[in-house]
Amino acid sequence: MTLVDDVLRPVADTVDVPTDLLVGGAWRAASGGRRLEVRDPATDAVLATVADADVEDATAAVDAAAASAADWAATSPRHRADLLMRAFDLMRARSEELALLISLENGKSLADARGEVAYAAEFFRWYAEEGVRLRGQLGQSPGGANRLLVTYLPVGVSVLVTPWNFPAAMATRKIAPALAAGCTAVLKPAAETPLTALAVAAILREVGLPDGVLNVVTTSRPGPVVEAMLTHRSTRMVSFTGSTEVGRVLLRTAADKVLKCAMELGGNAPFVVLEDADVEDALEGAMVAKMRNGGQACTAANRFFVHDAVHDEFVAGLVERMGALRLGAGPDPDTQVGPLVNEQAVDKVDSLVRDAVERGARVLLGGSPGGGPGCFYPPTVLVDVPHDARVLHEEVFGPVAPVVRFDSEDEVMERVNDTDLGLVSYLYTRDVGRGLRLAERLESGMVGLNRGLVSDPAAPFGGTKQSGLGREGSTEGLLEFMEAQYVATSW
Ligand code: NAD
Repeated sequence: MTLVDDVLRPVADTVDVPTDLLVGGAWRAASGGRRLEVRDPATDAVLATVADADVEDATAAVDAAAASAADWAATSPRHRADLLMRAFDLMRARSEELALLISLENGKSLADARGEVAYAAEFFRWYAEEGVRLRGQLGQSPGGANRLLVTYLPVGVSVLVTPWNFPAAMATRKIAPALAAGCTAVLKPAAETPLTALAVAAILREVGLPDGVLNVVTTSRPGPVVEAMLTHRSTRMVSFTGSTEVGRVLLRTAADKVLKCAMELGGNAPFVVLEDADVEDALEGAMVAKMRNGGQACTAANRFFVHDAVHDEFVAGLVERMGALRLGAGPDPDTQVGPLVNEQAVDKVDSLVRDAVERGARVLLGGSPGGGPGCFYPPTVLVDVPHDARVLHEEVFGPVAPVVRFDSEDEVMERVNDTDLGLVSYLYTRDVGRGLRLAERLESGMVGLNRGLVSDPAAPFGGTKQSGLGREGSTEGLLEFMEAQYVATSW
């Protein structure tokens, strides 16, 4: 353990936070001996250093996953399920320590971090339950000549690449179905938040996961390291969560090996408040959809479309609620909004707000970075945002709510679908029939109908268009790590 700051001591005392690579069941240094600094975004202080892998380590990790693949695939679904259930129990038992760790390295408030740990642990439980329920199919060929027997087999060695915004949940959402399916894996967490991923891996080791079934590679050079893993002979699958831009790069690399791909990419979620919405309810949902994780979520409401009849009431309520939030360091119990993940994130949010203002938007709250140390950007509300403002077309990934007024249903449907991304949409109306009818017109993989939160381990999470390929969670998330095998047989 090489945690360098006393602030992590309370965590380190109760959670085993390794800081080396996990390869073939052993914690080991990077082959080049390099280390990578993990920083607290609230203070910029170095929290810890972790091993900084290179291509050689990546290859060794895939080798280790390949060496254990046959044995793991041969274990019973119940054996794998028992192990995942023990991981669920241990993760819940350690939820406070894990929440503190997430809050420290990611910056999110403790309340958000606690919510994430609970959500993350549920993927272990869900896939422990789901893994033993998987059924094949038996049919007869239409001509009656033979039987059609279909079983599902693990796809094999899987490379899992995760972002920093949900460092625990994005990892367990991939690890749990991969292991339940009988796949071995290499996890490559984001360089900003490697400690949480390592702590999750340590939990799996502690509950008895065999050597080599899960390997973890932390690195400051994701390009060459991930490429080495994807082009490795033994790799069969890549499951990626992150930006659409990087997703495209990985899809190109995966094409050469015709790898199975699951892609959870960026979002540009519209939040639509119709004239017949319950405005109080919509405001409550808006606060969750916009402010969870300080707006740093792929599911974050990115653009608000509010009907003329309720626009002013909604905006006044939003300004009041967002203005009342307390900014501070994530681990401070009074904090409701933490810092953004790094300086680049602050610069990006700032440039989107400036662009909107230059094009005519009005700032009703916030509108410029806090100044001083730490990567803080205050909750911001913009109104009269013109269609060509970048903030309506790019992922904000921060606590900024741009509001657009509309007065026709057809107009708003056209506007919300005018994007290459299609992860989630939010819609508020008291008329559920109308809501369901409009949901069918929304080009997104998920819809929050009178709900500001859609994430659920039991539901298929994923996007349409350039927001991704495949689904995570639910049975579909398990099938992503499996391949159907059909046996033609007669008896
Ligand atoms: P990112 O794409 O920059 O990084 C994601 C992961 O890819 C990290 O592990 C990173 O190290 C790695 N990576 C970066 N460059 C790479 C390269 N050239 N080759 C291989 N790997 C590379 O995204 P981020 O900034 O960490 O996360 C924010 C993005 O993730 C947002 O766009 C957000 O919408 C998206 N996201 C999507 C979902 C979803 O489920 N759809 C969930 C969370 C986040």
